[in-house]
Amino acid sequence: MKAEAYMERGEKVLLHTYNRTPVVFDRGEGVYLYDVEGKQYLDFAAGIAVFGLGYHNQTFDNAVKAQVDKLIHTSNLYYNVPAIEAAEKLVKVTGMDRVFFTNSGTEAIEGAIKTARKYGINKDGRTDHEIIAMKHSFHGRSMGALSVTGNPHYQEDFRPLIGGIRFAEYNDLDSVRALVNDRTCAVILEPIQGEGGIYPADPEFLQGLRALCDEKDMLLIFDEIQCGMGRSGKMFAFEYAGVKPDVLAVAKALGNGLPIGAFLTNEKAAVLVPGDHGSTYGGNPLVCAGASAVLDIFQNEGILENVNEVGAYLWKKLEEIRAKYPVIRDHRGKGLIQGLEFEENPAPIAQEAIRNGVILITAENNVIRFVPPLVIRKEHVDEMAAVLERCIEAKTK
Ligand SMILES: *Cc1c(COP(=O)(O)O)cnc(C)c1O
Repeated sequence: MKAEAYMERGEKVLLHTYNRTPVVFDRGEGVYLYDVEGKQYLDFAAGIAVFGLGYHNQTFDNAVKAQVDKLIHTSNLYYNVPAIEAAEKLVKVTGMDRVFFTNSGTEAIEGAIKTARKYGINKDGRTDHEIIAMKHSFHGRSMGALSVTGNPHYQEDFRPLIGGIRFAEYNDLDSVRALVNDRTCAVILEPIQGEGGIYPADPEFLQGLRALCDEKDMLLIFDEIQCGMGRSGKMFAFEYAGVKPDVLAVAKALGNGLPIGAFLTNEKAAVLVPGDHGSTYGGNPLVCAGASAVLDIFQNEGILENVNEVGAYLWKKLEEIRAKYPVIRDHRGKGLIQGLEFEENPAPIAQEAIRNGVILITAENNVIRFVPPLVIRKEHVDEMAAVLERCIEAKTK
């Protein structure tokens, strides 16, 4: 069947919450995707920073297939071996103490928000605690996660949101300090803002927040759902600042495409007790076997080394392109999470790139975002860069 016929069928039954690009993908191989008509696409989006290991990493596929044959689900009323193993590996790689597995990034944020509220009530018994979040942040679409997402455009039609959220300026410690009062129980932010347009936090900002949270007995929550799991060139972007959060949210690349997220706490923030929180599927044997394999592959297959090598090469290539085209205003990011900011909305450039067989996605603030699989090679960067240049020329006359 032709792509067009599938799209027509899809539009009849799928709730229209996305203006989808007119492509119907069928299968993936390495860093390439193929549509139902057999056309090949170089993937520089990785399913929105999810498919870190690319398509069909053998170790990952085998681990998931073996678990399908063994046991998929039991609920959290019991223990299961893959969840214990995945949690041990995740604790080790993050430096945190405890894990709660979720089905998505958004749910990891929900858990982090509940942790903050519980921490506050344990501290002083008040029920009017506040959380400080950042402008231009993105933390998800459920009512809690949406409430800490600093983008009025996403929030407008869904008020009232949860109460007690205040928004500070990213990378501006004084603006955070100005919002702190005796009700503040937590500060939440992305160490690299993703959807907001690829803005890395200054190390001094994260260090200042750490000190402020310690001084005022507030929890510091890092959302590394997009920038974590090796994407920044370190396992977690907060490592660049040499500080640790009290609560850490991860997802996306953790499952390499399987729906799994997690929030982790240190012992101080391990305040949720039986009855406080739960999930039917969260951390089931299938997704945990996948996440466990992902963490092994990071150990054994030199993923971080590749991110640093190819990330530096991508930086150099994008700098060359930036120097050539005055419509490009800025270039930001680290490792394999980089963005080019244009004078105008670059969506037409990204669409033209897809027509030319390279998948590029945008972010807020007129940004084209580069979040390829972490196993991408230099020759793929060259292939992408050549198409990008042609598309900039075609679309910015
Ligand atoms: C994608 C994302 C989320 C939401 O994750 P979902 O898995 O889509 O629920 C939250 N925070 C950040 C930083 C993200 O990039």
